Amino acid sequence: MTGGAGFVGSHLIDELMKSNESVICLDNFCTGSLENIKSWIGNPNFQLIEHDVINPISLDVDKIWHLACPASPKHYQDNPIRTAKTNFLGTINMLGIAKKTNARLLFASTSEIYGNPDVHPQHENYNGSVNPNEIRGCYKEGKRIAESLCYDYQRIHNTEVRIARIFNSYGPRMLPNDGRVVCNFIFQSLNNQPLTIYGNGSQTRSFCYISDLIQGLIKLMSSNYSKPINLGSNQEISILELSNLILKKINSDPGICYMPEIQDDPKRRKPDITLAKKELKWMPLIDIDQGLNNTINYFIKMYM
Ligand code: NAD
Ligand code: UDP
Repeated sequence: MTGGAGFVGSHLIDELMKSNESVICLDNFCTGSLENIKSWIGNPNFQLIEHDVINPISLDVDKIWHLACPASPKHYQDNPIRTAKTNFLGTINMLGIAKKTNARLLFASTSEIYGNPDVHPQHENYNGSVNPNEIRGCYKEGKRIAESLCYDYQRIHNTEVRIARIFNSYGPRMLPNDGRVVCNFIFQSLNNQPLTIYGNGSQTRSFCYISDLIQGLIKLMSSNYSKPINLGSNQEISILELSNLILKKINSDPGICYMPEIQDDPKRRKPDITLAKKELKWMPLIDIDQGLNNTINYFIKMYM
């Protein structure tokens, strides 16, 4: 697995290890942490290789979970050229291993490939409304070329590929400095700091709890479905509603600090998950109420 020390990867490793699979975790730790995977260090079924996927590597594996890439806008924009290289060169390198070993490769794509969508909710046949020149370009165009590479390898080399278009996910192990909205709001609220809303808070997202996402990824890897598939929650919520929900749960009253709208911020986002329900028999089970309770408890335990 690439990116195994990150938020999604480490939860996925937990599930795979519990199912007695052998896991090799490749990570350069740019946003991941040893803490996330430390419980598996020393386990004979687990191997950690500190490696940047931008550089080639040779491995003998039967499945590749290709997750390496910072997911938070703050982190992927820190070094946009590295983000683009991670998606382009990193994906070529992993597809090269898949070709050599006949491994099936699951690529962690993203709802960002739909850009600032003018179709709502977003279904897999929608090709997106994407501006390649904006500051999110390194990420969304990186993911788009990576998807394209996956299908070129499938067409030319019969490589087995699975593409998960992941929508906003959250849960324990997100970092307080991650910059994404759920951790920002929880951390600010716990520290009695005003919640930072970019713009007027009317923009929407649909937040999927991590355990649901992990089940979706596992089902996708073992399914016969090889076209892109959305994985995410279809419970849409505005950012203002989210801020009020978190303030209420934490019972804190630091107020809201409205900041300028951020550049190129998608206005609405919600997946159409009809395909995942049909092909994978998957749908999210944890609602935002329960998911936020679990995440808030984790933040209290870890940081307060
Ligand atoms: P994360 O930043 O927590 O984890 C990414 C992991 O990849 C980290 O451990 C990081 O150190 C590693 N990494 C980054 N670049 C690397 C490189 N060049 N070589 C080796 N390792 C590298 O992010 P996440 O939330 O766990 O996301 C995992 C994947 O899922 C990403 O590909 C992301 O684009 C995708 N995704 C996530 C979300 C979400 O809401 N979390 C949404 C859409 C897509
Ligand atoms: N956002 C916000 N305040 C924050 C962090 C994010 O208002 O402190 C907004 C951001 O502008 C976006 C939404 O919350 O509209 C989700 O942002 P995030 O970075 O979590 O993920 P994105 O979906 O943009 O990749």
